[in-house]
Amino acid sequence: MLGQGCNSCKRYYLNASLLAFPIMGVNITSLTFEDHELTAEPAPKEINPAHSVAIIGVGPKGLYCLERLLAEFKARPLGYPLHIHLFNRSANFGASPIYDPGQPEYIIVNLSVGEIDLWTEENPPGVGGRGPNFLTWYQETFQPHKPLTGHEYLSRAVVGRYLIEGFHRILNHLPPNVTLSRHVGEVVDIQPQARGYQLEFVDENGHCEEIAADKVLLSTGHSRIVAGAEEKRYQVFASRHSKAAFIPFVYPVGATMGQIPAGARVAMRGIGLTFIDAALELTEGRGGRFHRAPDGLLLYEAGGREPQSIIPFSRTGLPMAPKAFDLPLVDRPLTFFTHSALAGLRKQASHGKLDLENDVWPLFELETELQYYLVVMGNSGERKQLESCGNNEEAMRRVIDSYLHALAADWPVAASKQPHTSGTK
Ligand SMILES: Cc1cc2nc3c(=O)[nH]c(=O)nc-3n(C[C@H](O)[C@H](O)[C@H](O)COP(=O)(O)OP(=O)(O)OC[C@H]3O[C@@H](n4cnc5c(N)ncnc54)[C@H](O)[C@@H]3O)c2cc1C
Repeated sequence: MLGQGCNSCKRYYLNASLLAFPIMGVNITSLTFEDHELTAEPAPKEINPAHSVAIIGVGPKGLYCLERLLAEFKARPLGYPLHIHLFNRSANFGASPIYDPGQPEYIIVNLSVGEIDLWTEENPPGVGGRGPNFLTWYQETFQPHKPLTGHEYLSRAVVGRYLIEGFHRILNHLPPNVTLSRHVGEVVDIQPQARGYQLEFVDENGHCEEIAADKVLLSTGHSRIVAGAEEKRYQVFASRHSKAAFIPFVYPVGATMGQIPAGARVAMRGIGLTFIDAALELTEGRGGRFHRAPDGLLLYEAGGREPQSIIPFSRTGLPMAPKAFDLPLVDRPLTFFTHSALAGLRKQASHGKLDLENDVWPLFELETELQYYLVVMGNSGERKQLESCGNNEEAMRRVIDSYLHALAADWPVAASKQPHTSGTK
């Protein structure tokens, strides 16, 4: 739908990728509105309480936001009616294409199932009470002979079912005074109005509708790919060579990989999660089977319809580092990305508003870098040095540089531990 016109309203669609960053109106962390806190007291007239809220994009994040928003409304009932509009491109509210329950079983999550739980936030309590974590839900739903241990990696489709059921659980317990409607289709434009926003929505059948909302929350997930110079070069190359083809985006894997004939040679740029999905589609999806030999080696038994070869390539030539299997999920105190640092920035900012890219992101990057090396350095002396740097960025940089320098002799391990050069940034 990118860049196309909407026939009935004769407007031009907003590039959906532009919608991905700004979060207007609702601050997700504290669930306060930009101009007043949610309160049990009737709102003073001049504050203009929100009577309608729109959530655009209801994948997992939109679902979490809805869940918390309703929990707040239940804990602090509103003195007036509120309507929530939910917009999602597909009818699978909660799941998104990433957890589409219709996708093949061999497309798996990169998180062990014991870590999946929709109901971790309990303050205030959720509207329908605490729902089951993924493991409990799975045991109850499928009653497998051998219960899961929690260390398994299951299909994204089954996680999608869990998310969709969670969405329905919430829907069945709306707090008093709150109503909700679901809109399946795409929001293609948002215009600020004197009060709130006007949304332009195109439903599944292409019908255009304008819907007003006092507040808008954007949880649109990954933006669509816009071809850059490199992609355009590949495209041109493919158009000049009759035997070559270029597939700019691998999802949905069934449809895109289906264009690749058996026996083809396939080069894939990037050796991360998308590569794994595409490679699984071209192997297990073509009737092949991976199995473990008695000596522990993973063997592949071809199905016969696979490509002749799959050639992955990336900036470092290394696969993306996997998530640590045994990294404990603990609270890690923050050093750079703190409330006081943000408050300091806010004081300096014009009108007290922070800019995501210039103000917030640099702090976030610093914090991520520090936390990354605190884990990578394990219990070494370097880690102690790093801890002693506090929020002194230069000192932190010196410790990290000297750590990487010492590792450099051991390349490519060193390269794989430096996220800014490994291509997994
Ligand atoms: C291929 C892939 C595989 C992944 N696998 C994993 C994994 O295994 N484990 C993991 O933890 N994370 C994984 N991720 C990360 C993943 O992005 C998150 O887990 C999660 O899907 C993010 O949720 P979200 O709600 O922010 O975005 P999304 O899941 O992308 O959901 C956004 C929703 O908004 C809708 N939407 C967008 N724009 C509009 C619009 N204008 N109007 C109406 N609706 C709109 C979309 O249709 C979609 O339903 C994966 C990501 C990708 C791309």
